[in-house]
Amino acid sequence: MSAVAIGLDVGGHGINGVVVDPAGAVLDRAYVPLHGVSERRIEAVEEHIAGLVGRLWGTAAGPLPVGAGIPGFHDQTTGLLRQSPNFPGWEDVPVAARLSKLLGRPVVTENDANVALLGEVWVGAAAGLTDVAMLTLGTGVGSGFLVGGRLLTGARGAGAEGGHIPLHPGGRVCGCGRRGCLEAYVSGPGLTRTAREEFDRDPAGLRPERPEDVFDADQASRPWAQRAIARFVQDLAGGLVPLVHLFSPAAIVIGGGVAGAFSRFAGLVEEELVRRAIPACLEGALPLRPAALGADAGAVGAAWLALSADRRTAPPSRLAGV
Ligand SMILES: [Zn+2]
Repeated sequence: MSAVAIGLDVGGHGINGVVVDPAGAVLDRAYVPLHGVSERRIEAVEEHIAGLVGRLWGTAAGPLPVGAGIPGFHDQTTGLLRQSPNFPGWEDVPVAARLSKLLGRPVVTENDANVALLGEVWVGAAAGLTDVAMLTLGTGVGSGFLVGGRLLTGARGAGAEGGHIPLHPGGRVCGCGRRGCLEAYVSGPGLTRTAREEFDRDPAGLRPERPEDVFDADQASRPWAQRAIARFVQDLAGGLVPLVHLFSPAAIVIGGGVAGAFSRFAGLVEEELVRRAIPACLEGALPLRPAALGADAGAVGAAWLALSADRRTAPPSRLAGV
């Protein structure tokens, strides 16, 4: 198959780029790390994008359309990236227009969690479905929703922020500045913090530094780790219940670094959902699905956007017609 589009996933730590064929298969990839705050300035990021796209174009017969997933609120009406949590100072930036000028061809941009969802719907865990919820449990909690085949973006591109569902009123301070958001509990740092609270009550073994340490300690039957995971399960289910009741998705996809331990918590979260959600709303959403594309989901979904005439419509399943 020939190369048809380039997709970029621009994150706070680096830029992942892929070249895809018409079926969404990755033909080539490249990655550029971003070191420190100075490399997150828009001029520095643009320079890296130009270099990375140049490398990927080298593998294609001609210039390809480009899509980019970038954290933040993308107002598709004005073409402005209104604000980005990972790139301070990028406020009301016409990022798509700037990249189009830089690369000499149309570039489309969208929120990183939204393009990750599109990647999973195109060729991943939710291929071919039209009603999908995805949570990415990483440094923060990203979320994307496909509703009746349309990407949920909100009036000015600031919707679909499931990570900031209020979970514990007056609770932990969240990255968004508010208190008690889902993200503050079920992101990687959130889980680690929960585990440290439990560890400090009853220390045994090494104090957890990362989510993996919590799952390892659970494997070793450390009571603090078991309590931490029980709280994590309650918190994740507590965040998913309102999403199930609002959207009644046909699939709930869980991605991000914490999903590396998916098999260790998914069954427990499902049990909790069955206990807490209205059965009719939950019908079809279980079992939970682990994300299938890993770190490529955002870049692959961004490539889909570059190919799509109507950018908010769901990709067709690669299985369609089979
Ligand atoms: Zn928040």
